[in-house]
Amino acid sequence: MQVYKVGGAVRDRLLGLPVTDVDRVVVGATTEEMLAKGFRPVGADFPVFLHPKTGEEYALARTERKSGRGYGGFTFYASPEVTLEEDLIRRDLTINAMAEDDQLNLTDPYHGQRDLEARILRHVSPAFAEDPLRVLRVARFAARYAGLGFTVADETMDLMRQLSESGELQALTAERSWKEISRALMEDHPQVFIQVLRDCGALKELMPEVDALFGVPQPETHHPEIDTGLHTLSVLEQSSLHKQPLTVRWACLLHDLGKGLTPEEEWPRHIAHEHTGLKLIKAVNERFKVPKDCQELALLVGQYHTHGHRALELKASTLLELLQSFDIYRRPQRFEEFIAACEMDARGRKGLEQRSYPQADYLRGAAKAAREVAVQPLLEQGFKGPELGEALKRERLKALKAYKEAATA
Ligand code: ATP
Ligand code: MG
Repeated sequence: MQVYKVGGAVRDRLLGLPVTDVDRVVVGATTEEMLAKGFRPVGADFPVFLHPKTGEEYALARTERKSGRGYGGFTFYASPEVTLEEDLIRRDLTINAMAEDDQLNLTDPYHGQRDLEARILRHVSPAFAEDPLRVLRVARFAARYAGLGFTVADETMDLMRQLSESGELQALTAERSWKEISRALMEDHPQVFIQVLRDCGALKELMPEVDALFGVPQPETHHPEIDTGLHTLSVLEQSSLHKQPLTVRWACLLHDLGKGLTPEEEWPRHIAHEHTGLKLIKAVNERFKVPKDCQELALLVGQYHTHGHRALELKASTLLELLQSFDIYRRPQRFEEFIAACEMDARGRKGLEQRSYPQADYLRGAAKAAREVAVQPLLEQGFKGPELGEALKRERLKALKAYKEAATA
């Protein structure tokens, strides 16, 4: 049997990038031979094994045929007769369909190296259309390699457009979609992921709430870029430039969804969009079974980002309500992430990317002032139960009033 490195490991080595995860394909072996060599089988369905020592993935060369909707609808055929070329043709992109042996001899029947040099993401064969997840994968690779100048081939975009229009994207499971979305948001150019999905019509299928933001105007005085969709892309871009975690990036993507619901007569203003957007944010969260921390932050940022921007003008009592809503006493990290998302929102405006955001430190200072109110003296004064809660609130309000006065003096 012969073993080859395939996929990302070959691609990234040729690009001169660090290789983290190595996938291997085994040609000319049977399951029995693999088990006899001590390899551990991964799943019941796939002919994939883990190396007994390194734990790296070894997959038997296989062919695939689509037999129904979605990913369940695939039949695999693995046997010692399946050639390397047959295995490579079922892969998504030419740059992912190269293999190399131990001596770094390249097998590249679909011209992946040529496309690497030309910086093109191109599908390998028409079988691309058999798995709609590939639409998201291509958009994710575009987000990852945009900085190197990669773009999606026109004919691949055409296929992605057909797939989007066919409604097949609806057959993707939440788990598979979220895995791609979350990885894409953590790439260097997450805004390119959304842009590519939009360009091929997939965004309308996957997140119509985000797609609807394009073409919706905002007041030029606050938003020189005007278009809410472009603003959202810029906020995402800022979140990556500032190395924000997934929670913040997800919140950035969804923070303005309410603006897509504003009646045209009210444009370019969006009164109460923070409130109207909540049900949309909830719907997107649930559609992709998003992890709880991402769900929560997106909802809180959606509801309170305008409070963040107006932090210095908020009354002490409103400031206290904001801090209470975030439960800053037990969840300090989450409030930090809220502040970060607000800052990304403010920077995601054309020409204002470098402007300082004094609200951030002001909010941090307010949280500190509220946290520093000690419970002990109140206990000593005999407060208990709900009355203790009320007394604590009064003291925190006092502290915030003093903080506000000192900070804005
Ligand atoms: P990464 O650096 O993100 O790991 P990768 O290219 O190695 O990139 P994997 O998800 O690890 O991506 O998949 C390994 C290889 O398997 C890919 O390079 C591609 O050839 C193939 N592949 C994975 N998923 C699909 C898919 N849904 N359709 C077609 N080919 C796929
Ligand atoms: Mg990989």
